[in-house]
Amino acid sequence: MKKYTIAVHGGAGTISKKNMTPEKEAAYLKALNDAIATGYSVLEKKGYALDAVKAAVIELENNILFNAGKGSVFTNTCTHEMDASIMDGRNLDAGAVAAVKNIRNPIELAYTVMKKSEHVFLIGHGAEEFAKQNGIAFEPDEYFFSEFRYKQLLKTKKANETALDHNVDTDDKKFGTVGAVACDANGNVAAATSTGGMTNKQFGRVGDSPIIGIGTYANNKTCAISCTGHGEPFLKAVAAYDVSCLMEYKELSLEEAMNIVVMDKLMKIDGEGGMVGVDANGNASLIFNSEGMYRGVKSSDGRSELAIYKQ
Ligand code: ASP
Repeated sequence: MKKYTIAVHGGAGTISKKNMTPEKEAAYLKALNDAIATGYSVLEKKGYALDAVKAAVIELENNILFNAGKGSVFTNTCTHEMDASIMDGRNLDAGAVAAVKNIRNPIELAYTVMKKSEHVFLIGHGAEEFAKQNGIAFEPDEYFFSEFRYKQLLKTKKANETALDHNVDTDDKKFGTVGAVACDANGNVAAATSTGGMTNKQFGRVGDSPIIGIGTYANNKTCAISCTGHGEPFLKAVAAYDVSCLMEYKELSLEEAMNIVVMDKLMKIDGEGGMVGVDANGNASLIFNSEGMYRGVKSSDGRSELAIYKQ
């Protein structure tokens, strides 16, 4: 049996200790820990990496602390449009949805696109119709409303910007895009990412998170990657697949490849953010170029970490 590992993130950005209270910090760490525990229990029972990442991301989507599912940010028209994607490194199967509304767990819908449709990527109304046909849970607008998020929208609108959720200058910097990567006991890897996008984004805008090869990628030959940060530069950098390519064609390690993409390529184009990754031997890396990234990892060799700020 090989080493098995799960790593999660809950978003990256300007997350600084001075804006945190001990209570908030504890709540974030608990949420990350719960998501890791949920995913890890799948791996412990010899389950697939794919099921572990889906379970971990659902846990984070259901938590108001994060910018995904329930805690999704507002668009410029005061709606919530969510993006998600999932990929199975065993066979390169992938599923993705973008700009979907009222879906309780967008990652469940992305998974269902992968398993039950002949397509990889569905968007908007078509994705919602597909969700209805397949018994996916919907929630009313109120489910996705939070006062904090609404204030964040008003503030961002006033500044006439779009913003990573942690970067909005408010007293209460909450939430973040979520993602998970895992390697199971058989050396299969998988990745999943889910987001509400960026505060005050133009409705219809799609970021990196639901794009296979950019926000999410998994291939047993190389690695599984889930990204978070400013979506546009990540799109230009083809971020997740670039890590895989550096490993496949240049034979770099996971950590070397992630360092090049996050600390060099992305930084050169103002690509603020980070990513979590695992390789098919169960090694994990969590790398970011922003002030912080909500993150955690647990491995069957005893590695167990939860962190928010730079170490
Ligand atoms: N990458 C996401 C997007 O641009 C935002 C985030 O990671 O927080 O939609």
